[in-house]
Amino acid sequence: MITFYPGPSKVYPQVAQYLQDAFAEGILSVNHRSPECMKITRGAIEGLHQKLNIPEDYFIYFISSATEAWEIIAQSLTVKESAHIYNGAFGEKWADYAEKLVSKVERITFDIEKLPDLEPINACEDVVCVTQNETSNGTQIKDLKPFRDTFSEAIIAVDATSSLGGIELDWQYGDVWFASVQKCLGLPAGMAVMVCSPQAIQRAEQINDRKYYNSLLFIHDNFQKFQTHYTPNVLNIYLLNKIMADVANISIISERIKRQAGSWYDFFDKDVPQTLVCGTKPLIQNSTVRSDTVIAIAGNESQIKEIKAISKEEGITVGNGYGEWNNTTFRIANFPAIEANEIAILQRLFQNFPCSTSKSC
Ligand SMILES: *Cc1c(COP(=O)(O)O)cnc(C)c1O
Repeated sequence: MITFYPGPSKVYPQVAQYLQDAFAEGILSVNHRSPECMKITRGAIEGLHQKLNIPEDYFIYFISSATEAWEIIAQSLTVKESAHIYNGAFGEKWADYAEKLVSKVERITFDIEKLPDLEPINACEDVVCVTQNETSNGTQIKDLKPFRDTFSEAIIAVDATSSLGGIELDWQYGDVWFASVQKCLGLPAGMAVMVCSPQAIQRAEQINDRKYYNSLLFIHDNFQKFQTHYTPNVLNIYLLNKIMADVANISIISERIKRQAGSWYDFFDKDVPQTLVCGTKPLIQNSTVRSDTVIAIAGNESQIKEIKAISKEEGITVGNGYGEWNNTTFRIANFPAIEANEIAILQRLFQNFPCSTSKSC
C-alpha cells in the first residue's frame, strides 16, 4: 500500500520498529512526570531545534493538534483582534475558530494565483495569522519577510502544518509556528508541535491568560521542566525523538523536496496524450506560489474520479480534492517519508495507463 494522501500521510517506515521498541521498553505505561518521560521530551525538543534549525531562544511545545494551536493563539496571544490572511479552506477555518473566541476577526482573502497584498490593517499591532502552506489548494507563501516588515509590532502566527519538517522555514519572520505530526513529520496523527518566539511569550505574559487547561503560560511553565500540561501522547513524543535522530538536517531534506516538487510540476505542465492524466494541469499556474509539499492537480470531474479509482486498484492512494476543489482536483503529498521509488511507480502508472473517460484524450 502506497499513499500520497496529504494527511494523515505515509509514516516513516522505521516507525514500525520503533512502535515495537516502545512497547518492549515499557514507554507506553511510563508516568508522564517521570524522569524517563522528561528525558524523551527533552530529546525530541532538542532534536527539533537541531534538525529543523529552530533558533535556540524559540520555545517548543507539544499540543494535541493544529486546531488546538488555532485556539491557543486566540485565547492566549490575542488582545482584541486577529487578522487572517488566507486563500483557502484551512486559513478560513482558522478564522472561523478565532471568531468564536476573540472580539474581532478581520479577514483578508487573496487570489490563489497571487501573493497577498499587504497593507497596514487594524490588527497590525495585535495578531496576524497566515497559512504558510495551504493544504487545500496547493499554494504557499515562500517569503514571510514582507509580513514582518509590514506588521512589525504584531505577533505573526504561521500555520505550517503541511510544510514544517518538509521545507526550510525562516523562523525569525514568525512568532508562533505550528504543525500536526501526521503530515511532513511522517508520524501517526494525535500530536502537534508548536514553536514560539520570545516575543510571543512576552505577549502571553502581558495578556496573562491562565483560564484554560491549555493557556499558553501554563503550557510554558510545564515545558520549562520538560513536562506537559496534561498526560500527553508519550508514544508520539517517543517516535518524534527517534525520527529526529534519524533524519538529515532540514536544509538537505528541503533540497530534495523542492527538486521532487519541480519534477511533479514538470510532469503535469507537459501534456501526456493518450494517458490516464492527459489534459490535467497543476491547479496553480503561477510557479512562485506553488506549494513544494502538496501538489494539487486539476482536471474534469470524470477524469479525476478515474485517476483516483485506477490508482486505488493499483494499491496507491492519491489525495482527494478539498473543499471547493473536491471533485475537480486530486492532491499528491510530497512529504519526506515518501520515497523516490514510490514517486516513480505513480508516475509510471500515470504515463502508461491509457485513459478511457477523458474526452480531451
Ligand atoms: C491538516 C491541517 C490542519 C489541521 O490539522 P489537525 O491536526 O487536524 O488539527 C490545519 N491547517 C493546515 C494547513 C492543515 O493542513
